[in-house]
Amino acid sequence: GAALAPELAARVARRQATFGASSVLFYKEPIEMVRAEGVFMYDAHGKRYLDVYNNVPSVGHSHPAVAEAVARQIAVLNIHTRYLTKPAEAYAEKLLSKFPAPLSNLTMTCTGSESNDLAMRIAEAATGKRGFVVTRAAYHGNTHHVTAISPSSMKSKPVPDFVRVIPEPDPALAPGGDVAAFFAGNLQAAIDDLEEKGIGFAAVIVDTIFSSDGIFADPPGFLQAAVEVAHKAGGLFIADEVQPGFGRTGGGLWGFSRHGIVPDIVTMGKPMGNGFPMAGVVTRPDLLSLFCEETGYFNTFGGNPVAAAAGSAVLDVIEREGLIDNARDVGAYFKAGLSTIMGNRRDIGAVRGAGLFIGLDFIDADGRPDQGLATFVINAMKERGILIGAAGLWGSTLKIRPPLCFAKDNADFFVDTLRAILAER
Ligand code: PMP
Repeated sequence: GAALAPELAARVARRQATFGASSVLFYKEPIEMVRAEGVFMYDAHGKRYLDVYNNVPSVGHSHPAVAEAVARQIAVLNIHTRYLTKPAEAYAEKLLSKFPAPLSNLTMTCTGSESNDLAMRIAEAATGKRGFVVTRAAYHGNTHHVTAISPSSMKSKPVPDFVRVIPEPDPALAPGGDVAAFFAGNLQAAIDDLEEKGIGFAAVIVDTIFSSDGIFADPPGFLQAAVEVAHKAGGLFIADEVQPGFGRTGGGLWGFSRHGIVPDIVTMGKPMGNGFPMAGVVTRPDLLSLFCEETGYFNTFGGNPVAAAAGSAVLDVIEREGLIDNARDVGAYFKAGLSTIMGNRRDIGAVRGAGLFIGLDFIDADGRPDQGLATFVINAMKERGILIGAAGLWGSTLKIRPPLCFAKDNADFFVDTLRAILAER
């Protein structure tokens, strides 16, 4: 592509000099963001972008109710969790009222990674085993232990001996399209192998909408067979709700609800505080007690009153603004619009998802995943004021995941722009 303008090139070089190799920026020509509101973000030149990427500011960027709750609480009291505080206790009760029995204990953390790390430790303590099963393009976070169960993070490092990876629940891979049997069968084989090698099976952990695997939500209920397999083997089922949680799938607050299952452990993060760093683990009291007998748990910032205020405001906004219904309705409308583009083209292999989480596969003339086309579209969309990302094993699936206050006219703008970009190609 064209070289960066000298001023921008200098800016990028300066950033590289400080943050180094871990500094990864989006886009060939990076964007400097200065503010955001609702579904829009604004760059340093005042250009407006429709955000179709970001599930963190899930109730809308800079939502006034969340901003006000955080500001009010931080001006009064912000301490760790070893004192009684009303905001933390009220939030825990409010959040736990949204979970099915027997999921009645909440441990608060600051990131999804910490939550999954804790979930792994709880599963190890409960089972006395150390083996985990995950999907092959899974991402569950960045701690040492959680990186081990995140194959999508493994560039040149092999997946460690206590981890087994199984294919994503893609109907195109499942014999006869039976996703439930395919997924549960692969899980069973992975468990058998862990047992045979003397490692043992502690838990299977899945993102219940399989975000980094390419977004797989259907058919509803397909995870039931996997839960049965895990339990029969004496292990746990951990639902990572960092991506689908808090209403995104348009059918209740949690992705696991779509499958009619009750996980043993649920982890959450990202949208929980609408950008305020907060995350958590919900599990059964018996499992948490077993773990706490071994090592206990303390998290300095997790569950502080400001986090609780942010989280509480998020739950209120979801309810007050009817965001779950909006995710369902606008999501269905959006998916239908994307499917009309697919009807006329050979380079789109599938459109799928639930609520406001939709995946769109790009394929080449031979029907193979086309990462080049996905990258081209992502950059062309940016030029036209739309932010979007990719997912899947081959990076060829558009990951369509806007804030939940997304409106039908936002969906129209996206569909019209994508259609034009593909037509002009
Ligand atoms: N689980 C899933 C499914 C995620 O997508 C992510 C973040 N992308 C995490 C866990 C880790 O969360 P965090 O970045 O807050 O540590």
